[in-house]
Amino acid sequence: MSNISAFLIFGPPGSGKGTVGAKLAATTGVKHLSTGDIFRGLSPAGENGKLFASYANAGKLVPDEATVQIFSRYIGGLIDTNKFDPEKDSFLLDGIPRTVAQAELIKSVVNVRHIFVLDIPDYSVIVERLLKRAAIEGRKDDADESVVRARIKEYETKTAAVLSAYSDSLITKINGNQSPNKVFRDTLSAYIVNAD
Ligand code: AMP
Repeated sequence: MSNISAFLIFGPPGSGKGTVGAKLAATTGVKHLSTGDIFRGLSPAGENGKLFASYANAGKLVPDEATVQIFSRYIGGLIDTNKFDPEKDSFLLDGIPRTVAQAELIKSVVNVRHIFVLDIPDYSVIVERLLKRAAIEGRKDDADESVVRARIKEYETKTAAVLSAYSDSLITKINGNQSPNKVFRDTLSAYIVNAD
């Protein structure tokens, strides 16, 4: 696979990555790609679908090797079917890398252009948001407070550390505890400044 240009969007579960990512893609043409969405699109009866469910339903991260393999295969498919042109397109990666090991594994193919971090220091805001989302979207891993707390813990113990693998000059922190429109505007401003 050739060199893939990518922006990363980081933030704890429920910080608004999906909403902001979709809007940024619609506005700028960057290709929003969420590993959570890729996983949820797997056939539940298949080997990978079963693996995903066994971890996600407990609020745990899927093991690194399997995650990167599924992600790489998916990107290969987008390239092969002309949905992503590595010569001119960029991804907005939402949900990967989620561990230092994943950052290492994707480093040789993914060229990280900039990282937007949706910052929400008060986790009670997140728990409330996710429980509400569960009622709307029917996501199993949002519906149970203990699963939500396990996901936040995975973010704190494994994902937050990924940021230290990247230079500070690549990172823009955005206050995620604002209205969705304001979070989007701040992210778009940071994107425009760093897209060239
Ligand atoms: P998300 O929609 O980003 O909250 O992801 C939902 C679930 O998918 C997570 O709780 C994990 O079980 C799994 N997942 C998504 N992305 C990754 C990743 N990069 N590494 C491991 N597990 C992931």
